[in-house]
Amino acid sequence: MDSAEDLNYPQILFQYNHGFFFSKTMFTACELGVFDLLLESEEPLSSDVIAGRLGTSTTGMERLLDTCVGLKLLRVELNSEGVFYRNTELSNLYLAKASPKSLYHNMMYYSKTVYLCWHYLTDAVREGKNQYERAFGISSKDLFGAVYRSEEEMIKFMYGLNEIWSICGRDVIAAFDLSPFTHIYDLGGCAGGLAQECISLYPNSTVTIYDLPKVAQVAKERFIPPEEHRIMFHEGDFFKDPVPEADLYILARILHDWPDDKCMHLLEKIHKVCKPGGGVLVVETLLNEDKSGPLDTQVYSLNMLVQAEGKEKTSTEYSNLLRAAGFKEVQVKKTGKLYDVILGRK
Ligand code: SAM
Repeated sequence: MDSAEDLNYPQILFQYNHGFFFSKTMFTACELGVFDLLLESEEPLSSDVIAGRLGTSTTGMERLLDTCVGLKLLRVELNSEGVFYRNTELSNLYLAKASPKSLYHNMMYYSKTVYLCWHYLTDAVREGKNQYERAFGISSKDLFGAVYRSEEEMIKFMYGLNEIWSICGRDVIAAFDLSPFTHIYDLGGCAGGLAQECISLYPNSTVTIYDLPKVAQVAKERFIPPEEHRIMFHEGDFFKDPVPEADLYILARILHDWPDDKCMHLLEKIHKVCKPGGGVLVVETLLNEDKSGPLDTQVYSLNMLVQAEGKEKTSTEYSNLLRAAGFKEVQVKKTGKLYDVILGRK
């Protein structure tokens, strides 16, 4: 950066400028079902056939497909009969709905919800608060009342967040040896993706998903198989209602939602009920100590501004919160993936 060459032709600025073109292209191809059709078809298809099957214009579909080729989401083949498109391995694995590692719902959540909030980033920076009011016309006095403004939104959120754990849940759960902790509460455990990883790696443990009543009910009905007796549910509000005694409390993507005073309140409450020798496992994406990166974490922190009440933090900031709440041995493990882990022991 800043070499004479960069200044004569600011390539990087064009890339940033086009960033949302790239994401919207991918979201649109997901939404229209391009990757699903190409996974099912098992043979490359022409743009006419794809447009016909998906009920779109041919002129629009042709350009969408070509741009997906540029993004390496599709491959194009030219032969004597014409131009044909097929999925890349990346799309088969992560963008087609049928794949066990699909990020389809995550993409749709970004496209339909996150994107709309980011339209008001300037307002968020000016005001220092989230933008549900402008984006969706609803008050965010009760943050999760706004996030779950309809049953449909809540389910979209649950699917969208859960998919991440099929990709990096194992790294998070394996970062520390959690086998001594058999009685685990996943506070704000949502759809239970992390709880499932946990019982799969530690078969002697039980995990209770503690979440707001309607979330816990949907997790039970739609996400966790009824025969899975090692996963249980507790309906409650972790700020207002009692939190039961356990060996380990998981807080995955919880502390980043809230301002420090609320984080402290929750951590102190957990510390009181945590069994001696037990602990709290904080799962978050960590900023460098000087906040110079990683870029993904920096933009997630801006996302917390437009969508929540908290921010992303450094490992020292999290460790200080845990120590202030009474946790003694605090260890940090970077996983090299999107989410890192901090274990505090009582
Ligand atoms: N831990 C999950 C994960 O990483 O996929 C979900 C993280 S999501 C950002 C926050 C979760 O906290 C949601 O499941 C939400 O319903 C839950 N939550 C928010 N406020 C809560 C409260 N007061 N009591 C219990 N759960 C709450």
